[in-house]
Amino acid sequence: MRPEVLEAFGSDVISHRGPEMAALIQEILPGVRSLFETREAVLLSSSSASGLMEGSIRNCVGRRCLHLVSGAFGERWRQVAADCGREPEALQVEPGDPFTPEAVELALSSGAYEAVCLTHNETSTGVTHPLSAIARVVRRHENVLLMVDAVSSLGGIPVAMDANGIDVCFASVQKAMALPPGYSVCAVSSRALAKAREMKGRGYYFDFARLAEASEKGQPLATPSVSHLMALRVQLRIMLQEGLEKRYARHAAMAERVRAWARERFGVLAKRGFESNTVTCVTNPRGIRVGEFIQKLKGRGYQISSGYGSLKEATFRIGHMGEHTLEGIEGLLKTMDEVLEA
Ligand SMILES: *Cc1c(COP(=O)(O)O)cnc(C)c1O
Repeated sequence: MRPEVLEAFGSDVISHRGPEMAALIQEILPGVRSLFETREAVLLSSSSASGLMEGSIRNCVGRRCLHLVSGAFGERWRQVAADCGREPEALQVEPGDPFTPEAVELALSSGAYEAVCLTHNETSTGVTHPLSAIARVVRRHENVLLMVDAVSSLGGIPVAMDANGIDVCFASVQKAMALPPGYSVCAVSSRALAKAREMKGRGYYFDFARLAEASEKGQPLATPSVSHLMALRVQLRIMLQEGLEKRYARHAAMAERVRAWARERFGVLAKRGFESNTVTCVTNPRGIRVGEFIQKLKGRGYQISSGYGSLKEATFRIGHMGEHTLEGIEGLLKTMDEVLEA
């Protein structure tokens, strides 16, 4: 996180019902719209994105939805739908594989789904699914909403909500947006919002209709995380000043460097052509002790992650998103080599 962002996060809080708050929200909304590349409604949530996962189901799915599950986060969304009493079905691929538009078309031909739920960038496997190609397939089915978890892509990999015809798209702010954890943003198409308004039992806190109305008035629905909003305003300025194209290019450059390093020494889980530009999941054919490796790096000031869930010892993950730089990545790679050779 940038120091000026942390400073904003730590500054004196303001009343959440005064004109200062309205001005704050009025500045944030267009910035978030730019990130999503949308003209649709933007919702702000004082929860992490898992809350919006639940909101997306409760607002937009009456009964059946199709989940594209390629790893732990796709599975979480399916579980959320099941726990909300819906009837989710999963289309699954092996860890590291992308979904093909053909497989999605085939799954949709049964016809009975209200929505397709896609994890754009599966953080547990380091795979970026072909969003535009999948979106084109879903768009051919008139009554099927396209809902996208962009938690670890928004701000690092293009999401292009309107161009792709996405209906619901959300992200936590602690990934490629480089903010303190525990807040999230969402964009909802007018047709998804219309469906939400008709949905019974959609609850209060994640009610998309209420949240959209609050945004429109420049007011929070309930007491928001004021500190996050103040930090978000500063970080949006930083991101838009860098420019989204440049930001995406920086992420691509960091990712390419990490992949080259990983391929020489280990391997990359993601199938070629579908590797994520925000996180690389490195395979471990040499069988190094992942936990020990991570601890040693920590001692030298670098933090990487073990594999997620069932991939815990079989992989490790290197995040190269947010405000990281190619220079910082070079430092990490050099340090990893030193630790591996020691
Ligand atoms: C981190 C992550 C989540 C969960 O986000 P929370 O902020 O923990 O709610 C969901 N989906 C993806 C793709 C993620 O990377």
